[in-house]
Amino acid sequence: MNDAGEPAYRARQVLRHLWQKPAPDFEAMSDVPRELRQRLASAFVLPRLSIDTDRISADGTRKFLFRLADGQAIETVAIPDGKRVTLCISSQAGCALQCAFCATGAMGFARNLEAFEIAGQVRELALLDPPIRPTNIVFMGMGEPLMNWRAVDTTLTILNAPDGFGLGARHITVSTVGVLPGIEALARRPEQFRLAISVHAPSDALRRTLMPVNVKYPLAAVIEAAKRFERRVTFEYVMLGGVNDALEHAIALGRLAKECGAFVNLIPLHPGGAGSFTRSSPAAMRRFTAELKRARIEVAVRKSRGLDIAAACGQLRAERLRRRPPVGAQQHGDVQVA
Ligand code: SAH
Repeated sequence: MNDAGEPAYRARQVLRHLWQKPAPDFEAMSDVPRELRQRLASAFVLPRLSIDTDRISADGTRKFLFRLADGQAIETVAIPDGKRVTLCISSQAGCALQCAFCATGAMGFARNLEAFEIAGQVRELALLDPPIRPTNIVFMGMGEPLMNWRAVDTTLTILNAPDGFGLGARHITVSTVGVLPGIEALARRPEQFRLAISVHAPSDALRRTLMPVNVKYPLAAVIEAAKRFERRVTFEYVMLGGVNDALEHAIALGRLAKECGAFVNLIPLHPGGAGSFTRSSPAAMRRFTAELKRARIEVAVRKSRGLDIAAACGQLRAERLRRRPPVGAQQHGDVQVA
C-alpha cells in the first residue's frame, strides 16, 4: 500500500474484506474510498469459485460442489454439531492414491488446487447469506493435502493468520495417508496445526492391499514420523467388514497407537465409496472399540453424517462425521475431524 501512496491501514481494511468480513468484490468494500476501489479492481483479480450444487442433509450437513475456472469440480462439506461447525475442504481435484474404498481415488487425479482455490472454499461459504463461519477446518475433502504442500502451506497461513481468516491452528487438521516429506514440513511449522493419519490397517501386508501408497511410505516409517511429530496425532481407521475389523487388528492397532500416543478415530465405512466393501457390524465395532479401550487408547467412533445427500455423489465424504469425545479427552476435542 505504501507504494500505492496509501496509508498502511488501508491494506488492513482491504484484507479484512477478504477474510474476516468478506466482500464479494472490490466494489463492495464500502469503507474503502471509491477511487481506490477502482484502482484495485483494475490492478487485481479477486477470484471467486462458483457454487454448482448446494445440498442440505436432514441432519444439517451441507455439501457444496464448486466449479473451478477450468471446469474441474471439487467438494466442500459443512458439518454443524452443536456450537461447532466443521468445514471439510478439498486440496486436489481428484486424487492419485487409489485407496481401495475411496470414491475420489477411483476418479483419478486431475490437478493440484491453488491456494486461492483451497482457501477460497472457506471464503465462499463465509460470503453466503447467512454466512457459514467454521469453528474447525479439516483437510479431509478430495485429494491428498501433503502431495500439494506448496499450496496447503500458504493456505494454512491464510486460514490461521490474525489478519487472514484468524482460525486457531489447533482447530485446523491436515489429514494424510502418510506422505513423509509433507509430515516433516507440517512438523516444521511453529503453529499447532493438527495431524491426522489415515492408518486403516495395522500391518504392511493388509495396508498395501487397501492403500497402494503403503509401498512408497510403509507403515513403520509413517509411525516413526508420527512419533517425531511433537503434537498430538489422530489415527483414522475406516472399519471394513471382515477385512480390518478382527480382534487381532484391534490389538495391533492399539500397539501402534500406544507407540505414538495417538488418538484413534474409528470411521464407519461411508457407502458410495469404491470397491465392494461393507461396513463392520455393530458387534465388530463394539469388540474393536472395547479392545482399544482395554489397551488404554483414547478412541472415538465417528457418526456418519449427511448420508442422504452423499449417496448419489462421486465421492462426498459427507460422512465427515461427528465424533463423540471420550471422557477426559476434551483437550483434544478439536483434533478430531468433525
Ligand atoms: N488424502 C487424505 C485426506 C482425504 S480423505 C487422507 O487420506 O487422509 C479423508 C478420510 O476419508 C481418509 O481417512 C480416507 O481414508 C477416508 N475415506 C475415504 N473414503 C471413505 C469412505 N468411503 N468411507 C469412510 N471414509 C473414507
